[in-house]
Amino acid sequence: MLIFDAHLDLALNGVDWNRDLRQCVDDIRAQETTLEMTEKGRQNNVLSFPELQFSKVAVCLTTLLARQEQPINHAFGWTSPHACYAMAHAHLAYYRAMQADGYLKMLRTRSDLKFHFDAYQANPNTTPLGFILTMEGADPLLTPKTVFEFHEAGLRALGLTHYGTNRYGGGTRSEVGLSLDAIELLKYCDELNVTIDMTHLSDVSFWQVAKHFRGRVHASHQNARAICNWQRQFSDEQIRFVIDRDGVLGVSMDVIMLQDGFVRGVTKPVVTLERAVDQIDHVCQLSGSIRHVGIGTDLDGGYGFEQTPADLNRYRDLQSLVAIMQRRGFPQPDIHAFFNGNWMRFFNEALPE
Ligand SMILES: [Zn+2]
Repeated sequence: MLIFDAHLDLALNGVDWNRDLRQCVDDIRAQETTLEMTEKGRQNNVLSFPELQFSKVAVCLTTLLARQEQPINHAFGWTSPHACYAMAHAHLAYYRAMQADGYLKMLRTRSDLKFHFDAYQANPNTTPLGFILTMEGADPLLTPKTVFEFHEAGLRALGLTHYGTNRYGGGTRSEVGLSLDAIELLKYCDELNVTIDMTHLSDVSFWQVAKHFRGRVHASHQNARAICNWQRQFSDEQIRFVIDRDGVLGVSMDVIMLQDGFVRGVTKPVVTLERAVDQIDHVCQLSGSIRHVGIGTDLDGGYGFEQTPADLNRYRDLQSLVAIMQRRGFPQPDIHAFFNGNWMRFFNEALPE
């Protein structure tokens, strides 16, 4: 089954983590093991370009990700907006270099997406991974107007915040709302048809975006509080809002979003991909159909298989969702819609002509 994955952090791995994603998963693991790199997530990667090709990932959204953090010794992030801006450009340069080398293909328009998907379907072994450029946290935007520059470079989706608060508003684990700059930024996103990714908004910010933004919204890597009860997940009311705006929510494979009470670096994953299907089922129950749920794995998003479902060791294991969904009574067209059809429909409408 062809996969549309609405959330990967490929440049985070290729640039910040210095992984050569042209290698197979085993070679990257072996190198990090040999070098005794024991920080969280090292030696435990689940993806690379050959792995994504083997797994039949036709299209993804991949991030520009550079969060501003005050402490100079913070494990993740940069201290100034300017450094965040520069790192976002480094991520962009990585994607451009990988495109020049035939590993990636940027999709900017509806016709790019359709043409690429058809080509991938016809020749999955020789067609590069198509990507729609997104930004996770607006920290690299020096001012709201900086979005025009990134849009020109291909940016088509934007999440305002990440963990904590930034200059645009409150994100995960915060209860801060939007800044005035965010209201201005939302206006430009509406003008540019940049879709807003509701993932990683604080609850206050979420409902402010709902009020101020009239354009298309989605939630790229987003599970439900009903499945895993803490603020990173959406309440049923928030899920219903995305459904009512005809958005799509991507099921994430990070167990901090699937396993209740999971503590990073302490708890071992016990949930399996069955839990991800519980998540799919939950969105279906709220909307009455499969239409609003897709894949948004977040795999290798700053962690490895120490933090994925117990039966997911490599990206390819995602394909076992097909059998689980079949056994749990999802008809074949619904499985298809979940794997790629729903995101294809969404971006066929949301991308510019
Ligand atoms: Zn994220």
